[in-house]
Amino acid sequence: MTDAPSDHSSLHLLIGGEKVSGGSRKTQDVIDPATAEVLGSLPHATSDDLDTALANADKGFHSWRKESADKRAAALHKAAALLRERAGAIGELLTREQGKPQREAMGEVIYCAMLLEFYAGECKRAYGRTLVRPEGQSARVIYVPVGPIAGFAAWNFPAINVVRKVGGAIAAGCSVIVKPSEETPAAGLALVQALLDAGVPGDVCQVVFGVPDEVSRHLLGSPIIRKVTFTGSTAVGKHLVKLAADDLKVTTMELGGHAPVMVFKDSDVDTVLDTMVGAAYRNAGQVCVSPTRFLIEEDLFPAFRDGFVERTKAIKVGNGMEKDTQMGPMANERGPEGLAKKIADAKDKGAKLDTGGERIGNQGFFFEPTVLSEVPLDAEIMNEEPFGPIALLNPMANADAIVEEANRLPYGLAAYAWTNDPKLRSRLAAEVEAGMLAINGANVSAPDAPFGGVKWSGFGREDGEEGVMHCMVAKTIHES
Ligand code: NAD
Repeated sequence: MTDAPSDHSSLHLLIGGEKVSGGSRKTQDVIDPATAEVLGSLPHATSDDLDTALANADKGFHSWRKESADKRAAALHKAAALLRERAGAIGELLTREQGKPQREAMGEVIYCAMLLEFYAGECKRAYGRTLVRPEGQSARVIYVPVGPIAGFAAWNFPAINVVRKVGGAIAAGCSVIVKPSEETPAAGLALVQALLDAGVPGDVCQVVFGVPDEVSRHLLGSPIIRKVTFTGSTAVGKHLVKLAADDLKVTTMELGGHAPVMVFKDSDVDTVLDTMVGAAYRNAGQVCVSPTRFLIEEDLFPAFRDGFVERTKAIKVGNGMEKDTQMGPMANERGPEGLAKKIADAKDKGAKLDTGGERIGNQGFFFEPTVLSEVPLDAEIMNEEPFGPIALLNPMANADAIVEEANRLPYGLAAYAWTNDPKLRSRLAAEVEAGMLAINGANVSAPDAPFGGVKWSGFGREDGEEGVMHCMVAKTIHES
């Protein structure tokens, strides 16, 4: 049994179960966002590597789809147990390459184990149905795996984004080639290694890296791939959907958001703040479901802003490897640069900077937890996902204005609301345009709950039974 990788010194591709690196392959540095030091060197797949992975995926699919649900479930259960055993080591790799505090990194690996355990059960629950027909005839619907899948994952959740690409696929009986982010490769590699160590064949689950646009064009250009699944920005998602359209491949898109937090007048301000301030700065705000647009009924606004700023100033920022760190650096150089530009634009347009707003130090990619308030709607940051440690607080006249502003953007991933008014709660459930709505809480993700968005936040779902079903297609058998 191979142990989890312990550092970034031997990064590789995983093709046909083999660790592939070296030769004439190009490489790229992997950077520690807390220090900007080089952690390791990542090989890029050659065109031949990608063709080999595709041929393996084709072969792997034809054998894995015939395996019993019991066998697939056993492998997923075992992989989950290995992830639990290795959570400490994988969590360290994850913090080093991505920056989040150890506690969050370990939690991420444990979530991956929980998701694989849930999917193990779903292998056996991919029920079809029998249709009503006259005597002597029958018709039934069965679900069959869609085929080899190509998955592309982002750097903000180096393990969860990868497990969401491979877990449902493997449970459904598909093969999958996944490309984790080149910026955070080791946690994804460790996750797939656990699946291989648990008995998933090497041609069923493979890992490649390279120049993202070149890898996706190569894999999507092959008729072997029947589904594409992506986590990342809306712009790249639209590009991949267009590429997938040429061969009418199935797509699942988990794209950006800009989540409203609707705080209605019957809320207890301290309870909301105790829950939502931590959520706003989790993973330095680099979360597609980050609560970002706080829409607060105006009577509550002054106390809400004061309490928010006080709590924000108390957050301890530091290297994620240090025990008392509550918020780590942003994950890459683009983060602080992009956020500083958006803050400058909002201030020019009249927003108030209540705290933060600057890079911290001259080493690594640290940025102060920031609060902007009374932010005009024409500020860029009110329209584009900030993806950084920032909260935008705006006073709102009444409930109607809050719901209208919540739905104003083309995004619709997560939304949050705080109220105990039962009528308002059912109105929100019906009217808020989002894939997930949390009422009086900050959690929108659980292994048994479908995760995904509407409008420009994408389509298709990961997690929940949908995470497996979206890797399958219905086939109807008519018998006379
Ligand atoms: P991006 O969309 O360019 O990159 C996100 C991921 O997609 C990366 O891992 C990248 O390797 C991959 N990618 C990029 N182009 C690709 C292609 N042509 N084919 C396949 N994969 C490709 O985003 P970014 O520059 O890293 O971040 C920009 C913004 O994207 C962020 O500020 C945020 O708004 C959004 N984002 C959203 C999520 C999410 O969880 N939905 C994750 C990361 C970034």
